[in-house]
Amino acid sequence: MLKNAYRGRFAPSPTGPLHFGSLVAATGSYLEARTRGGEWLLRIEDVDAPRCSAAAADDILRVLEACGFEWDGQPVWQSRRSEAYAAALHRLKAAGQIFPCACTRRELADSAIAPDGAAIYPGTCRTGLPPGREARAWRMRVGQAQIAFDDAIQGPIRSVLADDAGDFVLRRADGLYAYQLAVVVDDAEGGITHVVRGADLLLSTARQIHLQGCLGVATPAYAHLPVAVNAAGEKLSKQTLAMPLDAARPVPALIAALHFLGQSPPTGLARVSDVWDWADEHWKLDRVPRDPAVWSDMDGMA
Ligand code: GLU
Repeated sequence: MLKNAYRGRFAPSPTGPLHFGSLVAATGSYLEARTRGGEWLLRIEDVDAPRCSAAAADDILRVLEACGFEWDGQPVWQSRRSEAYAAALHRLKAAGQIFPCACTRRELADSAIAPDGAAIYPGTCRTGLPPGREARAWRMRVGQAQIAFDDAIQGPIRSVLADDAGDFVLRRADGLYAYQLAVVVDDAEGGITHVVRGADLLLSTARQIHLQGCLGVATPAYAHLPVAVNAAGEKLSKQTLAMPLDAARPVPALIAALHFLGQSPPTGLARVSDVWDWADEHWKLDRVPRDPAVWSDMDGMA
């Protein structure tokens, strides 16, 4: 790889069809990569198999194609990468950086809550499993780690992991690998230099940087895009009933995503290729707003 090569990616989870919030992440990461002469990889994050479906993954690929996104190489499927995750877990285990945990969800129900709503692990199994208990999950030790990074959109971010996340799960009680582990292993193996994604993942970034340090892999540069929320302030997702994007009408959706990202496309861009030609020439990361913004599915796409 060239020394200053830029490698970005888009990593949707196929838990439902592509909605506007994901299109914003796709558009922002794609335009940063393109306008910096970089590559843009696609990764289907189906590591949480029970929540994902092949139909949703197909739908995401179809909408991305209809929107004219062109990714480099073949998409990476997390469901096919268990060996790589197992190898990383093995290294962390050998280095004493993870520990087995026997706690059930119910036992953790009274835990303090992290800013992102996750339970902060109270440390029950950190110094060894209680007698007679069996390991269910594997957790990362965060110790006194403090993480600081400069986000290209959100500015300087600091996190004391013990307060913001606690000892987080890398292998779940159901045997599946956790998102935090999969994303770090995949970004490292893909040679990703720049991660552009939604700001709902900002706190995950501190966990991921900690994990990168423990695994001895490079930390990419980060830019967290504003999150699209509904009128109730909830992130658009399948759960908040965000409308899926219509593959038959990609232009209004792309134009809406550009507006959401602070860009000002002119009226009259008729074809997908017109939109990308304009965006290639005019995209500016420093015009992307920081704060979450309300997005109603009908705005601008009618
Ligand atoms: N799969 C995650 C999502 O769809 C994104 C992960 C990432 O970009 O790191 O929210």
